[in-house]
Amino acid sequence: MNSPLRNSMQKIRSVIKDIQAYQVADARGLIKLDAMENPYQLSDGLKDKLQARLSEAELNRYPDPSAAALRDKLREVMHVPQDKAIVLGNGSDELIQMLAMAVAGHGSGEVCLMSFDPGFVMYRMIADFTGINYVGVSLNEDFSLDMESTRRTIAERLPSIIFIAYPNNPSANCYNEKEIEEIISLAPGMVVLDEAYHPFAQASFMDRLSEYDNLLVMRTVSKMGLAGLRLGMLCGHPDIIGEIDKIRLPYNINVLTQLTAELVLDNITELDQQAELIREQRKVLLQQMNTQSDLQVFPSQANFILFRVLNKNANDVFESIKQSGVLIKNMKADTGLLSNCLRVTVGTPDENRAFMSALTKAMKNE
Ligand code: PMP
Repeated sequence: MNSPLRNSMQKIRSVIKDIQAYQVADARGLIKLDAMENPYQLSDGLKDKLQARLSEAELNRYPDPSAAALRDKLREVMHVPQDKAIVLGNGSDELIQMLAMAVAGHGSGEVCLMSFDPGFVMYRMIADFTGINYVGVSLNEDFSLDMESTRRTIAERLPSIIFIAYPNNPSANCYNEKEIEEIISLAPGMVVLDEAYHPFAQASFMDRLSEYDNLLVMRTVSKMGLAGLRLGMLCGHPDIIGEIDKIRLPYNINVLTQLTAELVLDNITELDQQAELIREQRKVLLQQMNTQSDLQVFPSQANFILFRVLNKNANDVFESIKQSGVLIKNMKADTGLLSNCLRVTVGTPDENRAFMSALTKAMKNE
């Protein structure tokens, strides 16, 4: 029998119905080490300044549609070359979506978005949303690039966009620079270096933008300590950025985000110091985790650590850690490169201690 609901549901593409929505775990009452957030708040002094600034915000007005002042500030703080253009997104997720929309459309059946697996899940999800083919080139077992298969895939699939997370999520490593250069040179379209974890890797292709017209560098303020703002930045050749900017919804960066980001970027040393603390804590945590013989701990250039549980089931270890009050990320893989792997975000020294004691207890549990 026909019903308005059933008719409506039939209109929704099956590819959408088949997608599992992006999962965000309920962290209430738990120490939150699952989402690569910076654990530190702004200083009281900066919070006071922010409060004063925000109380003057003209909430009755639309925001500056191009967020010109904020773009200028980002250019200065993130060292974007003067001859490159910038487009802002509501998080870098939105920028990935804009890029996909720019290449999707009529005849999308032919269009391919390439990245590396295991990698950031939004590349694949957004390809599915926009009707583009996703091809994920498998990484090597140590999460380095498999260049033979990368070269072959580029030649066969001619991807319109290649996303390279640098460092990669969830493996936390930066790929070999020379290999990335080769990919940029071989690519028949755009190559996006997704530098979401730049504050922790301190490696970047930003100063290489002038060498490659098809290279785009993407950054976010999320991991720097401003995940709640939702602000990402894409920069590259003005011709490409100009087209992406047409897809951007007019007021995608709201008034509060623009004002807050401008003020915090004026005080960037505060976030830089927090990133330094996190890098130090990463070292401590890696050392401690490496003393556990029943774990395979992968090196990290990001603010999180991927590890494999040996001789135990990762689901049980994850649950036990959660029972102890700490939420980390279960990669939920029985097979493949992430089999029996968990991922923990580097937190404050206290949070890391709580995690280490929960982990030790979980590994002892029969
Ligand atoms: N790129 C990578 C590699 C990420 O891991 C994430 C977030 N997990 C993002 C982009 C999205 O960041 P944003 O908060 O700016 O949307």
